[in-house]
Amino acid sequence: MDRRPRTRLDADVLVVGGGAAGVAAAITAARQGLDVVLIERYGFCGGGAVAGLSGTVCGLYEATDRRANGPKQVVFGFADEFCQRLEAMGGLADPVVYGKTWTRVHDPLVWRDAADSFVREAGVQVIFHGVVFGVHMDGDTVQGLEVWTKEGIVDARAPIVIDASGDADVVAMAGLPFNIGDNGRVQNPTMIFRLLGVDTEKFSATYGMDTIMPPEVTEIILAAQRDKTYDLPRAKIWLFLTTRPGELLCNCTRVIGPDGRELNTLYWKDFSDAELEGRKQVREYARFFRDNLVGCENSFVNDTGVQVGVRQTRQIGGVHTLMNDDVVKGIKSLDGIARSPWPIELHAGAKPRVEWLLDDYYEVPFGCFVPERGEGLLAAGRCLSAQHEAVASARVTAQCFSYGHAIGHAAAIAVKEKISPRKIQGRDIRAVLNGDGARLD
Ligand SMILES: Cc1cc2nc3c(=O)[nH]c(=O)nc-3n(C[C@H](O)[C@H](O)[C@H](O)COP(=O)(O)OP(=O)(O)OC[C@H]3O[C@@H](n4cnc5c(N)ncnc54)[C@H](O)[C@@H]3O)c2cc1C
Repeated sequence: MDRRPRTRLDADVLVVGGGAAGVAAAITAARQGLDVVLIERYGFCGGGAVAGLSGTVCGLYEATDRRANGPKQVVFGFADEFCQRLEAMGGLADPVVYGKTWTRVHDPLVWRDAADSFVREAGVQVIFHGVVFGVHMDGDTVQGLEVWTKEGIVDARAPIVIDASGDADVVAMAGLPFNIGDNGRVQNPTMIFRLLGVDTEKFSATYGMDTIMPPEVTEIILAAQRDKTYDLPRAKIWLFLTTRPGELLCNCTRVIGPDGRELNTLYWKDFSDAELEGRKQVREYARFFRDNLVGCENSFVNDTGVQVGVRQTRQIGGVHTLMNDDVVKGIKSLDGIARSPWPIELHAGAKPRVEWLLDDYYEVPFGCFVPERGEGLLAAGRCLSAQHEAVASARVTAQCFSYGHAIGHAAAIAVKEKISPRKIQGRDIRAVLNGDGARLD
């Protein structure tokens, strides 16, 4: 019960979540002249990329066995525009090797600033520190949202709502179909942290320039596991030099429960345990690095993610589902609204499994973002309709920007033409995206 008076807010489009997908969707829709409200539970945009410290923009370049030719970029549009802004602001490093492909390390503080400048320029109304906790429905039609703020509840209304919450919160609240992982089993969360005081020259001279650490590092971790000298649940780890001097971004923890089960942050108990376990593992990995890795002798933890990094929770039930095979076979589609060259990077079990798609990419159809049931609603981002292993590829940042770019345009078409999003053809969005620099053809 909240006895305070409710505030009414009307808009053309409501976007839930200010991660990569929500930012791109809100800005794109606003650039089409719409009145857009973006609701974000933290005081800044970025979601997994900033609050979760994910660290790099993956998914821009094709993977290849012929790395000597250098990176081939295949994703453009809003993803590229955001990266160019980050780079101009000093918050994006040059491409670095990640196995058979490349990625680009970003500074999360600059990411926030870049997103601030984009939303301001586009005229998006942002509600920071607002949590969407309810949906206004008329039958199966979503008509608006209930937003918790410190001031009281905001009744936000709009003909189109975009669920970019990552967790398909709106879809779930509306009672529309969704599924969770592989029969409920999700990829493990990771608490990422930044290590300062590193002699990065010594470090890279010893371990090379691939951000996936070489087998010798895995071997020392395995030995530590056997000897029980350190408690390190993940042996294959990724360490990235960043845009800041003396810093390593560490993607190495594997946040699981005492029974070895991947924790699912949809459950409040798992989410809370994940934070406690994640921070414990950070202390342990940092101690191990200091004692064992060349260049890390004087290192110390600068910070951890604001929250544990969440790879996977709910996927919407969409009119189209991206299948595991679509990724492996590099499927293309006339209704494709985004490209992805990123491998299946599955974080489950003792070590992450990476399955490469070489010299190719696949396309993600528009239908993956249209709920199979329910009107007035679109999804964007990692909660797309996709099979478990397909999500392990399709969820990375460049793609989430691309999904948001496409869904922002779809929302604008739906509002301007007063039609249901499910009546829109993916190929029409594709044409608009091409006009907007996405280079899909
Ligand atoms: C540990 C880890 C490492 C990763 N490493 C990389 C990497 O190196 N490179 C890469 O490209 N990708 C990486 N990823 C993946 C990538 O960061 C995410 O998949 C991507 O950022 C998802 O974007 P999104 O916009 O779909 O969702 P999110 O980033 O999850 O954004 C959702 C937003 O919605 C907000 N929100 C949620 N619910 C509500 C609500 N009810 N009310 C209001 N606001 C709400 C959240 O606060 C959040 O800001 C990593 C992910 C993890 C977890």
